[in-house]
Amino acid sequence: MSEKPPLDSANSEPVEFFDEGQLVGVWTTQPLGRMLDYKAPEGGCWLGAFVEVPLGPRKVLGVVWSAGRGDFDYAKVRKVVRVLDAAPMRGELREFLEKAGAYTLTDMESMLRLGVRAPGLVDPPSMRKVYRKGDVEPDRMTVPRGRVLDALQEYGDLSFTLKELSEAAGVTSSVVKGLVKQGAVREEDTPRDLPYPRLDPSLPSKELAADQAEAAEILKAGIRSGAYGTTLLRGVTGSGKTEVYLEAVAECLRKGRQALVLLPEIALTAEFLTRVQARFGAKPAEWHSGVTMTERRRAWKMVGQGGAQLIVGARSALFLPFRDLGLVVVDEEHDTSYKQEDGVLYNARDMTVLRASICSAQVVLASATPSLESWANAEAGKYRRIDLTSRFGDAVMPDMRAIDMRGVKLPGNRWISPQLKGEVEARVASGEQALLFINRRGYAPVTICRACGHQIGCDHCDARMVEHRFQKRLVCHQCGETKAMPEICPSCEAEDRLAAVGPGVERLAEEAAELFPDARIATLSSDMYGSARALKAEIVGIAEGAADIIIGTQLVAKGHNFPLLTLVGVIDADLGLQGSDLRAAERTFQLMRQVAGRAGRSSKKGTALMQTYQPEHPVIRAILAGDENGFWSAEAGERRMASVPPYGRLAGIILSSPDPQEVFELGGELARLDGPLRAIGAQVFGPAPAPIARVRGRHRVRLLVKAEKSAPIQRAIAAWLRQVRVPPQVRLSVDIDPQSFY
Ligand code: ADP
Ligand code: ZN
Repeated sequence: MSEKPPLDSANSEPVEFFDEGQLVGVWTTQPLGRMLDYKAPEGGCWLGAFVEVPLGPRKVLGVVWSAGRGDFDYAKVRKVVRVLDAAPMRGELREFLEKAGAYTLTDMESMLRLGVRAPGLVDPPSMRKVYRKGDVEPDRMTVPRGRVLDALQEYGDLSFTLKELSEAAGVTSSVVKGLVKQGAVREEDTPRDLPYPRLDPSLPSKELAADQAEAAEILKAGIRSGAYGTTLLRGVTGSGKTEVYLEAVAECLRKGRQALVLLPEIALTAEFLTRVQARFGAKPAEWHSGVTMTERRRAWKMVGQGGAQLIVGARSALFLPFRDLGLVVVDEEHDTSYKQEDGVLYNARDMTVLRASICSAQVVLASATPSLESWANAEAGKYRRIDLTSRFGDAVMPDMRAIDMRGVKLPGNRWISPQLKGEVEARVASGEQALLFINRRGYAPVTICRACGHQIGCDHCDARMVEHRFQKRLVCHQCGETKAMPEICPSCEAEDRLAAVGPGVERLAEEAAELFPDARIATLSSDMYGSARALKAEIVGIAEGAADIIIGTQLVAKGHNFPLLTLVGVIDADLGLQGSDLRAAERTFQLMRQVAGRAGRSSKKGTALMQTYQPEHPVIRAILAGDENGFWSAEAGERRMASVPPYGRLAGIILSSPDPQEVFELGGELARLDGPLRAIGAQVFGPAPAPIARVRGRHRVRLLVKAEKSAPIQRAIAAWLRQVRVPPQVRLSVDIDPQSFY
């Protein structure tokens, strides 16, 4: 047995087996900072085996990572307790976790936790009962019974445990048992974790348009090569990117390899699952927070055993133990939700490219408005780029126009201009839909006392509380703390002087209800629905015409298809341009283009109207002109000049503590000890109070490290941080390639 076994590729896993008593090195999910030696258990174990090992008085989860180091008295080394019922972690995934950890400066234990997120992984295999829809109608329908049947209906063919089904329906388990007795619900013994139904790539695809067929051919050739490669699939909304990448999925399945499609928004999966079923005759496995624990564990196991060919999931699906991953599609690749902003700070888009390069898979990054990072990688020749320039069929891109708000006189509590109002009325009159867009949740961003000027803030954060009239609460968007709207001003105790200032989506809905009394209005904001499923149902209803006017936050910008929608009105196109964020222009451009893209997706041409106080602003002009290449080139030029991403490297260091002095002292010490950074030509800025200087009672200080693109920033930062001792109360986190700077 070698010191450290060679890291192997997914396709040719060399036999690595440890006989009973041989020393193995195990990474556990506990923060110990090192691997531990154990003796292989009775019957031996494989390299990569998921194991339970003793640690002090406890048993903890771990993975056999290598041969043991043997630098400890053999007689005292303890034995692996047992090998878990799961395929061993493959060399490819172990290498990925190591490299992703090195890139994001994350300890192995935290990386490993991402790789073992299988509910019930340590449970013994067993038979148990699951519940599905039966063929018989219940003799008597009651509300609770109806809810059980609805829940079964909503999840299609998926099976539930008794607990899951009663929770999903909000009923006691005796209601379910009652239905079982009647045959309206079927109770089955099932071995855990059945494979998913086979997807059949040979079923006919839609007939592709010429440009689509050409794009699909390029992607398929990539899959056939069996090698790594990344393609940026750029195409206006509605151009058929999904149809095209489904052909890449088909090719991948034909080759017997697995495919993963990452989506940014859970509410989108329903539509996508239906399309997969239409194309391949069955639904894929799902992995996101909206699926039951039973299904999650099944997905995790089946991915490892090859019983799942296609996974549709959120960013954490990238850490699943695929048997042979051949393709990853990152849909809406510019979406900020791919960046995980707490715990392990990683960008799933970038980590996808890393994993694919290790396991010889193809990556497709799909977007109508790619990130500047991907755009630059394509320009530099690192990624292939395919452009789909026209919408499929009769659909054409919407007209984009500005409404210059400087000349519009509106009362202080009104935001819809007369021109926009007129356009909305015209659509409603002709049976079409209009969307009014504002990227702000809640009723009003500020609540101010008219007597003393006091603004109601959060007790734990340096942030104003946002009124949510729908929930009848004030909410802190930083920490989630809520409180009732006070009757008197908390500062001067004046009565009836608290006033809402500024618009939020709920307030806009109120204005719309007054302006358009006869229209059916639907408000879509992520916090207005109890569950992702309720939101999904609402979206389906709207698509089928259940509303005339949609009032929405950026939730609606994400890929939903509303065929009747022909007008998009942006209430405040300038909103994202304020602030000093490096990506403010990019984000505004993407968001406005995405929102506008909701209009006119079928045969009727759409219009997008943007209310703005700065119609001459270069970003607003670029949005209106639809000159994407011009915009990206100009934006790239500015970033290149300033040596910021994607033409330079940034890393954020956030220190937080209940004690403000402590964080400033540590920050100051780090700024002084910048030798390891200077050695690679990097600069450090700060310490400075973070833009939100207190969150959840912790004071926050930021430092920013800036370096050249090719500088070995991780190594330098690690050496830099090793020089200081972090006091126990202080949390230090490193954000490589930060997306947000709050
Ligand atoms: P995108 O992902 O670029 O937004 P989609 O793949 O969702 O575009 O396509 C937009 C709409 O046009 C969808 O309803 C899709 O089914 C339809 N469509 C696209 N290409 C074709 C095609 N070749 N044949 C039939 N329908 C198509
Ligand atoms: Zn707060």
